[in-house]
Amino acid sequence: TLNGGDIADLFHTLAAMIEREKDHLSALDGVIGDGDHGVTMSIGFQAVDKALASNESAAAPSDVFMLAARTFLNAVGASAGPLYATGFMRAAASTKGKDALTADDVADVIGAIAEGIVHRGKAEVGQKTMVDAWQPAAEAALAAKGSASLASVGQAAAKAAKDGAEATAAMTAGKGRSANLGERAVGHVDPGAASAALLLETLAQWAG
Ligand code: ADP
Ligand code: MG
Ligand code: MG
Repeated sequence: TLNGGDIADLFHTLAAMIEREKDHLSALDGVIGDGDHGVTMSIGFQAVDKALASNESAAAPSDVFMLAARTFLNAVGASAGPLYATGFMRAAASTKGKDALTADDVADVIGAIAEGIVHRGKAEVGQKTMVDAWQPAAEAALAAKGSASLASVGQAAAKAAKDGAEATAAMTAGKGRSANLGERAVGHVDPGAASAALLLETLAQWAG
């Protein structure tokens, strides 16, 4: 199982990955957006990592997600800010009262993050956003509940997110900045879907 310290370690690992992928993500956003997605994700995850590192109290998983939500919202001005903040807030609600998370709880966390992002951004699958990665990842994670280990929940979610992100290349956008581009967005992966797939891939590796 995972306690609050483990969740903080996971955020640390995610933050390090975002630093490595920062330029790549901004380059993707440069093609169909305003070129800052790597920077906005870096600002958010660096702020969360710093806030968690200086949080001395032995926090439960729910407290870690709540601090991540508040920190992300305050730090990030771009679209991704309120979307991930709402996702992490839903993760906090879904883990409330638990000292340690099972594989099934982690599947619920992935489901809760996806729900929060959909609730906040009102995007549906097929509109070329991060929802195209998070929604199938949530479905795969929730379907893996029951017999699954943490590694298999992570792997199922990561695989679905990767396929979902790749599928955004063929889409025109219905939400976000690239919605203005119409057909010109076709052929390019959505940066928010790409970063979501990387987050879930990193979760799977961390868990495995
Ligand atoms: P900004 O567009 O404000 O510069 P970012 O570059 O950080 O913000 O994030 C852009 C990503 O946000 C897009 O690639 C897309 O995946 C995601 N996004 C934008 N609007 C929405 C929405 N309404 N719902 C879900 N995701 C969205
Ligand atoms: Mg952008
Ligand atoms: Mg921007």
